[in-house]
Amino acid sequence: MTFEQLGLSADILQALSDQGYEKPTPIQEQAIPIIMTGCDVMGAAQTGTGKTAGFTLPMLSRLQIHANTSTSPAKHPVRALILVPTRELAIQVHESVRTYGKYLALRSTVVYGGVNIDPQIEVIKSGVEILVATPGRLLDHLQQKILTLSKIEILVLDEADRMLDMGFMPDIKQIIQLLPQQRQNLMFSATFSAEIKKLAGKILQEPIMIEVAKQNSVSELITHVVHPIENSRKQELLIHLIRQKDLKQVLVFTRTKQSADKLAYRLVRHGIASTAIHGDRNQLQRTEALDSFKQGLIR
Ligand code: AMP
Repeated sequence: MTFEQLGLSADILQALSDQGYEKPTPIQEQAIPIIMTGCDVMGAAQTGTGKTAGFTLPMLSRLQIHANTSTSPAKHPVRALILVPTRELAIQVHESVRTYGKYLALRSTVVYGGVNIDPQIEVIKSGVEILVATPGRLLDHLQQKILTLSKIEILVLDEADRMLDMGFMPDIKQIIQLLPQQRQNLMFSATFSAEIKKLAGKILQEPIMIEVAKQNSVSELITHVVHPIENSRKQELLIHLIRQKDLKQVLVFTRTKQSADKLAYRLVRHGIASTAIHGDRNQLQRTEALDSFKQGLIR
C-alpha cells in the first residue's frame, strides 16, 4: 500500500516524501483511512510503530479542509488537542506535526511545564489550530483564560497508560469537561489495563479498535536479555557490554535519579560519552541531553 492510496493530500504527500518515507507502516495503513472518516479510535500501539504519523497525518488532512491564511488570531481557534504525558514526548509529537504539516496553512504549538509560561502565552494568543500539551501546563493556561477549547474538533490522548500512571487522570477529566460534546476522540496506549478500558469507555464513542502488536507485548524487534550479576559489578558489566558490542546508542534506565547521575559520571570517566536525564535536571539540561543523544554526540 502507498500513502497516495490512503487519500492524503498532495501537500501532505510532499512532506512525507521530503522525509524519505516510502510506504505507510502497518498502524498507518489501518489508522489513517479510519481516522479520516471522523470516527473514534482506540489504538494499541507502541512507540516505534509509526503511531505518531498514524494519527497526525489524518488529523492534518481533516483540519486542512478549513485551513486559512488570515492573520487574525480569531480565525485560528484551537481545533485539535493532543495530550501527552511528558515534556519530551510533547516536543517530539509537535515536531511531527510541524514536519508533516509544513506545507499546510495550519498553526501549531506545544505547551509543557518546567519552563516560563509567558512565551507559550504569546504564541497561543496569536492563534493556533493544533495544540500539543501536557495536562498540568494546559490547565495552567486554561485557568489563566489564555485559550478556550470550545472549538475542538479532535482530541488525541497519546500514551494514555502512562498518563494514568503519572496521575494525570483528574487533570484530564477537568480538561475534557471544557470540550464540545461533538468531537472526534483518538486514544493510544501501549498496554490495556482495566483502568485504560474504563477511561476509553468514558471518552470514546463507539470506537474502532486498531491493533498492530499483540496486546501487552513488547515490540518484536526487541530482544530481551537478562544478566544475573552482583550489584557491585553492574557498572563494570555495562561498560564491558558497551565496549565489546561497540554499542553506538545506549539508553540505560536506573531506579533512582541519583544512580542515573552516578552512572553517567562513571561512564564518562571510562571514556564513554554519556549524560543523565531525569526530573531533577532543569528543562534546558534535559533538552540538551536529548539533543546530543539524538545527534550522536552522547553515546
Ligand atoms: P513513532 O512510533 O510514532 O514514535 O515513530 C517512530 C519513527 O518512525 C519516527 O522516527 C518516525 O519518523 C518514523 N516513521 C514513521 N512513519 C514512517 C514511515 N511510513 N516510513 C518511515 N519512517 C517512518
